Amino acid sequence: MATPLTAARLVKALREEGLEVHEYRDWRSHNRNHKGPWGPVNGVMIHHTVTKGTSSSVELCYRGHSALPGPLCHGVIDKAGAVHLVGNGRANHAGLGDGDVLRAVIGEKKLPKDNEADTDGNRHFYGFECVNLGDGKDPWPEAQKLAIEKVSAAICRAHGWNEKSVIGHLEWQPGKIDPRGFAMSTMRKRIAKRLGGKPDGPTAPAPKPPASHEPFPGAAFFREGRNSKIITAMGKRLVAQGCSRYQVGPGPNWTEADRKSYAAWQRKLGYSGKDADGIPGSASWKKLKVPKV
Ligand SMILES: [Zn+2]
Repeated sequence: MATPLTAARLVKALREEGLEVHEYRDWRSHNRNHKGPWGPVNGVMIHHTVTKGTSSSVELCYRGHSALPGPLCHGVIDKAGAVHLVGNGRANHAGLGDGDVLRAVIGEKKLPKDNEADTDGNRHFYGFECVNLGDGKDPWPEAQKLAIEKVSAAICRAHGWNEKSVIGHLEWQPGKIDPRGFAMSTMRKRIAKRLGGKPDGPTAPAPKPPASHEPFPGAAFFREGRNSKIITAMGKRLVAQGCSRYQVGPGPNWTEADRKSYAAWQRKLGYSGKDADGIPGSASWKKLKVPKV
């Protein structure tokens, strides 16, 4: 029995286990809590998506479909082993399953055969959907299996559970076949081994895409004698904005024409007096969107 992890705690646990974690849209507040309880949580459930392609699978698991609204799980594990978090709270992944199985998971005992559908699984299990067609032919790359191992171990570690708290959908709900392509018993052995050691991480947060605009270099940058490609790039943007006071150029040297052109830009933005003196400030610079040089 355990209180569900907060979004921040889950992200931290996954990163500390050495996983690449992507946070999708507003996943931190995306859930089905208005439809039923979430928690106490007792285990982790592994699924396959019956889809291919990461971005479409992540979007589907976030949004769901008309018959089954999203989130369809908490995270999607792609074929390269990255985790995409899509839900935080109750999610539509486990459906009704066998209460005897839930009791075995809680007690971390050997699983009985799942032959009943009498218990709400969405309340009690974290769910992870793995991108796979589920046809028995689509391969499971080692990077993806390693990520399943790590995700499961990270959550078990955070709650103080062992590997017996991790099950496949096929072990929960009669008629389900997922995940298909590897044995959950083998996966549990891997998880147990990992839990015997220390986590791999932490991994650095996913790198931000490089800024496409030149950051503001500071007002002192713009003085006589300055020679820089940034000045040329700025001048071109001023021309594009209809603020040109250039007779020639623009060029890399900071000139009076640059200052007058920039002052025209400041006036265009609504500044006046000292605020339109032609020396760039950070707010007007940001709006000018000078491409990175
Ligand atoms: Zn499933």
